[in-house]
Amino acid sequence: MRAAIFNGPRSVTAGDRPDASLREPTDAVVRVVLACVCGSDLWYFRGETDFEPGPIGHEFIGIVEEVGSDVTSVKRGELVIAPFAYSDGTCPHCRHGIQTACVNGGFFPQNGDGGQGEAVRVPLADGTLVAVPGSGHSDQTLVRSGDRTASSKSVVRAAGCGSRRSTR
Ligand SMILES: [Zn+2]
Repeated sequence: MRAAIFNGPRSVTAGDRPDASLREPTDAVVRVVLACVCGSDLWYFRGETDFEPGPIGHEFIGIVEEVGSDVTSVKRGELVIAPFAYSDGTCPHCRHGIQTACVNGGFFPQNGDGGQGEAVRVPLADGTLVAVPGSGHSDQTLVRSGDRTASSKSVVRAAGCGSRRSTR
């Protein structure tokens, strides 16, 4: 599949990567329809932070193409939002709304695929992906949701509002 590849500071090219595929029963494969360049991408692009050469990108939206046998919250063909981190949604940190500290989670592209590519293997799909109900949403709204949905829910929970359950 085609994907954006970080080669080193100030060098990003389109290249070929292995096709995204299921590795764990908790994985989903999402066909990316839109991804953004995050401000955090600019740190390593400028050479201001270390970053391993390879696939890049997070905060994407896409269509679920395949799900592992343990995935129950999303199904093939659904439009989903992925935040910048993947998380199980069940550990103590996730239950308190701090999915970025998930004991089993990580940050795209540590999963092996970046959001700025044709498809992504999403680990811990039940805790990570948010299905988008309805239709007619603008691309901008959906991409912003990748970051803001997770961030907003964390803030609301930190302020003591809402349930103490996972943001799922
Ligand atoms: Zn967790």
